[in-house]
Amino acid sequence: MNVPLLDLKAQYDSIRSEIEPVLKEVIESQYFILGPKVKACEEEIAKYCQVPHAVGVTSGTDALLMALMAENIGEGDEVITTPYTFFATAGSIARMGAKPVFVDIDPVSFNIRPDRMEEKITPRTKAIMPVHLYGQMADMDPIMEIARKHKLIVIEDAAQAIGSEYKGKRAGSIGDYGCFSFFPSKNLGCFGDGGIVTAKDVSKAEKLSILRAHGSHPKYYHKIIGGNFRLDALQAAVVSVKLRHLDRWTAGRQANAARYDRLFASSHAMKNGFVRLPVTAASRHIFNQYVIRVSRRDELQKHLKDKGIGTEIYYPVPMHLQECFAYLGHKKGDFPESEKAALETLALPIYPELTDEQAQYVIACIQEFYST
Ligand SMILES: *Cc1c(COP(=O)(O)O)cnc(C)c1O
Repeated sequence: MNVPLLDLKAQYDSIRSEIEPVLKEVIESQYFILGPKVKACEEEIAKYCQVPHAVGVTSGTDALLMALMAENIGEGDEVITTPYTFFATAGSIARMGAKPVFVDIDPVSFNIRPDRMEEKITPRTKAIMPVHLYGQMADMDPIMEIARKHKLIVIEDAAQAIGSEYKGKRAGSIGDYGCFSFFPSKNLGCFGDGGIVTAKDVSKAEKLSILRAHGSHPKYYHKIIGGNFRLDALQAAVVSVKLRHLDRWTAGRQANAARYDRLFASSHAMKNGFVRLPVTAASRHIFNQYVIRVSRRDELQKHLKDKGIGTEIYYPVPMHLQECFAYLGHKKGDFPESEKAALETLALPIYPELTDEQAQYVIACIQEFYST
């Protein structure tokens, strides 16, 4: 049996009749950059994320970069973040010329530990960039308390977390900025690259809109330097159609996670401690990934590949051990929980269209691996 990590064709088949007319409409209008589709998408996402403003941008990576640009964070500044994330988080900080200052993760949630943050704050610290990894929000109450106390900006990297909640509050609605990605493999993906930044404060949202178009305001007059960070109308139109299905897809992912939990609970792979399941602490986990901790991870991944099952390692090398960040002077052992997670974790197929038969097959193949 074939079980891909993600099956975007299955998703497309289910919404083809809604998407195609909208794409045709944009093409007929020949209005490709910003415009009414982007505006509508921004309003819908802002509402969905329970935040007043949203600005459509070119990608999740640029969303992070723009939030930093909007706060003039650069040379000589420090930003606190997690070493266990996708590269863009630390990459955007470094690209602005600022220094990513890492704080290790909690081994259960895989998210940054707020209780280790304050010791890393210096007079140069300007912002905290927590990541809501795998679809579960970071522990935002203590993070916001630290931010208020030290007057720091909070930029949520919510690229994996659209619609996830922490104590009833949506990702992107707690910090000063929420940065989302519409990369196709995210829970709400478009047909290429795209992203959005949410903001509570209208002046921050206005600055983002200006930065997105080269800092031009009014047109051809530049008080600040921006770039071309515009979301295009075709992508916005896709996002708007897909957003109508997002809660149903999220429910599908949650049901798949619950089914894995059930199937694993009665497996000897679990009973013998070879597999440890993800634990949900947040009030709404949207399962962008279902990530287990396992023994002999790389061998298991190979075994599953031979059986036709797609898995992924998110992420094999924590940021502090990346070659490009050698100048930060970190070494192995500096962030032990991140390093351990990088060696032990494996993401299983969790996409909404996954069938009962496929899930049972995944579990059976994992069982088989640990019986030999
Ligand atoms: C995907 C992702 C990004 C980057 O989004 P892109 O749209 O691919 O640029 C940033 N941070 C995290 C945690 C991500 O998963």
